Amino acid sequence: MSEFDVAVIGGGAVGLSTAYWLAKKGLKVALFEKNYLGSGSSTRNASGFRVHFKSEQNVKFMIEGKKRLLRLSKELKYNPLVSECGYLWLLATEEQINEFKKTNNQVWSKHSVSGKFLDTHELKQILPNAKTEGVTLAFFGPQDGTFHHDFVLFALQNALKRSRVSVFECSEVTEICVKSNKVSGLSIGAREHTCEKLVVCAGAWSASVCKLAGVSVPIEPERRELGVTEPIRRFVDTFVIDLSRSIYLTQGIRGDIRGGPTDLATRGFAPLLSTFKWTVEFS
Ligand SMILES: Cc1cc2nc3c(=O)[nH]c(=O)nc-3n(C[C@H](O)[C@H](O)[C@H](O)COP(=O)(O)OP(=O)(O)OC[C@H]3O[C@@H](n4cnc5c(N)ncnc54)[C@H](O)[C@@H]3O)c2cc1C
Repeated sequence: MSEFDVAVIGGGAVGLSTAYWLAKKGLKVALFEKNYLGSGSSTRNASGFRVHFKSEQNVKFMIEGKKRLLRLSKELKYNPLVSECGYLWLLATEEQINEFKKTNNQVWSKHSVSGKFLDTHELKQILPNAKTEGVTLAFFGPQDGTFHHDFVLFALQNALKRSRVSVFECSEVTEICVKSNKVSGLSIGAREHTCEKLVVCAGAWSASVCKLAGVSVPIEPERRELGVTEPIRRFVDTFVIDLSRSIYLTQGIRGDIRGGPTDLATRGFAPLLSTFKWTVEFS
């Protein structure tokens, strides 16, 4: 008999919630994280959520995701600090405007995802400090906003403790044992654990983890960075994506500005040099 019904690899938002829901079904679950819980992307993001996506699948996924986030916050008794501050896109080119109009007509209106096109005068009412040179039109999505990812992770972490999930931090999975085409366990260095099923939730590292089991998945890491400043006087109330200058930013509850260039993602686990280039662009 195996030690665990399911082993989950990765202690980010996806791994923690996977372990939580599996344990709720009565399964004996273990979670393995190579560093500390939340050490990957899940505590290093801009905290934005939006239902305004181009693809219909993403729109439906996010409508449901937002409902689940609110339900989970009640169930786990935590405050995710949801702010429906809206997303504001500043559009420059005809191509960008046409794409927004097309998605609005074909996807968003079908799913009652509302939004409003704003001329530069209306834009100034939402974002009084906006420099409008180069901006032709703006689009405001009122259902979008921000939430606090740390609270989601803390709440799930505490819930795992209560549901007796075995959580192994500082435990990098280095080997996956496969017998007769079926996963039978994994190794953390010299330590071995047996399991019936394995779920890989290793985010950007998923392809290399799956490779340990001889499985190839088309997931490639992409380096994205986020700048967080010291708190300053509040000057922006929405989540702004400025497509005319290729930058996005929002202001956290402490007044810190979070954001970065929208077009500087690089493929692979890029070297430090990309961070210097990124910092120059952000500042
Ligand atoms: C700069 C930036 C800004 C972002 N902004 C937003 C945003 O505003 N809104 C939004 O919705 N999303 C945003 N995202 C994306 C979001 O953060 C990720 O989609 C999400 O956190 C992914 O969660 P995850 O659990 O899949 O991955 P992760 O949180 O990365 O977790 C994967 C975990 O697997 C562990 N792991 C890897 N290999 C092994 C191994 N061999 N053994 C054990 N453990 C292993 C890692 O240490 C890591 O902790 C942003 C991401 C970045 C980087």
